Amino acid sequence: MHPSLEQLHRLQDLERQAAALRADIDAVDQRRREIEAPVVEAQQALDALTSTIEERQTQRRAGDRDVAASQQRLTKFRQQLMAVTNSREYEAVQHEIATVEAELKSREDQTITLLFELDDLAPKAEDARRVLAERKDAAGVSLAGLADETQRHRLELAALDGSIAALRPTVDAAALATYDRTAKRYPRFAVAELKGDLCVGCNVKIRPMLASEVRRGEKIVQCENCTRLLYVVKPPAAVAPPA
Ligand SMILES: [Zn+2]
Repeated sequence: MHPSLEQLHRLQDLERQAAALRADIDAVDQRRREIEAPVVEAQQALDALTSTIEERQTQRRAGDRDVAASQQRLTKFRQQLMAVTNSREYEAVQHEIATVEAELKSREDQTITLLFELDDLAPKAEDARRVLAERKDAAGVSLAGLADETQRHRLELAALDGSIAALRPTVDAAALATYDRTAKRYPRFAVAELKGDLCVGCNVKIRPMLASEVRRGEKIVQCENCTRLLYVVKPPAAVAPPA
C-alpha cells in the first residue's frame, strides 16, 4: 500500500473509532432515561396506590361523620317517641327512625367495605414501596456504571482526537487534501478497499489498468466512479498444507 494511503487508512480508522465514541457519549441521556424508566414506573404505581388509600380514608372519615350525625338524629327521634300523644305521630316518628336506621345500616356496610379495601391496599402499598426501593438501588448501580463508562469514553475520545491531530501533519499534504475532499462526501469512508476490480465503496468495477495501479501501490488511485481512495488487502501468506 502507498505509504500515504496507509496513513490515511489509519486516519480513517481513528476517525471511525472517535465517531463511535461520540455516538456513545451522545446516547448517554437516552440510556439514563432507559435506566430510570423502571424507577419512574414503580414510583407511579406507588403514587397511584397512595392516592387510592388517601381517598378511601377520606371516604371512611366522611362515613364516620355521617354515622355520628345519623346516631344523633336517632337519639332525637327516640326522645320524640317518648313524647308522642297519638298513634299517627307515633307511626310518623317510627317511620323516621326506620329511615335513619336503614341509612345507618347502609353506611356501616360501606365502612366495612372500605375497611376491607384498606386492608387489601396496605400490603400492596408495602410491596410497591419495596419494589421502588429495589429499583432505585439497581438504577443507582447502573447509573454509576454509566457515569464510569462515559468518563472512560471521554478519555478514550480525547486520546483518539490527540492521535488524529498528531497524524494529520505527518501525511503528505496533497494526499491529505484529496482525502479531506473525498471525506466531505463520504465521512469516515473516503478510503475504500478494491476487491478484484470492484470498488467496495460504490460497488462499481474500475478499469483493469487502474486496478493494477492500485495493486502496485506506487501512487494514490481514486475510484473513477465515486472518487474514493482505493487500497488492496494483501492475501495472507500461503500456508503449506500439512504433509
Ligand atoms: Zn467507488
